[in-house]
Amino acid sequence: MSSVLIDIPTLQINGNDLQNFLRFIYKHEKLLKDFGAIKVQANIDCKLALKKRPKNLPLNPIMKKIIKINENINIYSVQTIDHINIYSVQTIDHINKSSQKYFGKTDENTFWSSLSSSNNEQQGLNTSLSSNTSFFIQRTSSTYFDLHRIPNQSLLKLGGRKLTNQFVPCVKRAQGPGAIFPLMSARQHLFSIDYHHEGGDHHWYIIPSNQREALQNLIEQQNLSICLDHGQLFIDPSVLDKNCIRYHRIIQHPNEFIVLSAGTLTQSYSEDTSWSESISFALPSWIEDGHATISLLPCQCHVEQNCVVDTIDVALFKQELIQKYITSYLQTTANDETSVFTGSSFCWL
Ligand SMILES: [Zn+2]
Repeated sequence: MSSVLIDIPTLQINGNDLQNFLRFIYKHEKLLKDFGAIKVQANIDCKLALKKRPKNLPLNPIMKKIIKINENINIYSVQTIDHINIYSVQTIDHINKSSQKYFGKTDENTFWSSLSSSNNEQQGLNTSLSSNTSFFIQRTSSTYFDLHRIPNQSLLKLGGRKLTNQFVPCVKRAQGPGAIFPLMSARQHLFSIDYHHEGGDHHWYIIPSNQREALQNLIEQQNLSICLDHGQLFIDPSVLDKNCIRYHRIIQHPNEFIVLSAGTLTQSYSEDTSWSESISFALPSWIEDGHATISLLPCQCHVEQNCVVDTIDVALFKQELIQKYITSYLQTTANDETSVFTGSSFCWL
């Protein structure tokens, strides 16, 4: 794969497969690993356990802005907005409004060039997060897809309820055009699923885990020691092009899933206000390919925020238990067929 410009593959899923979404993902894991992510579109027969009432959550905006690290390169670091005081809500509101003024047009070229040229203006992220919140209803009927169920259907179930109860959906809100979700990976480099509920399209940039080292080197060349995993950076894709760091794009529309492979780094922006939701999970390769153990060292972000992050004990995942899990939950019958669209081409797997 030499081109940096190919979109990630888009797969169609039917109602039956969505009832066992992880088996479907496992079946297409090679594609998922190669690209770092896949997009999944639900067929008309798919039933989702979604709340019907209009979406409305009292969310506080993330008090962060992005600043270009230096004049010569379009890499932005994410910084906390200073002077938090009684005026802070008005301040962030002002910053976010001025960001929206720039991002009235959110096609890709306009977005990145506006960001680059608005160097002296403060750019707020204009996003909010709400952990342990969901627009999926927790139902008993398994014919309806419910995002809450994913962790307990995944390899994490080997750690029992004590572990899987830690994994809950997180609702993400884009407050306006050009809202930014900076560079992140899932907790302890897990897999994750992101569902777009409604609103503006999301433009994703996906960096597969095998490109981490090249990206880390690029950041270090700028004399920076910034973590790649916890929303500290936002990188103009032209910088990735110039430095031959392979990445893939995708536009996520409402009602589409993006599935991210273990260790994948992503960043995105939204064309307009939107609601989306994500959850983390594990497949056997999270252990087998060493993703679970790579990220065990505490990161500077946690030290600075004075927060303790529980590490998942990899000793829970014994080889014979993983094998039993694969046989019981992931293996598929031989004659399943799925149609796959990659860009404009079409093939049967
Ligand atoms: Zn970090």
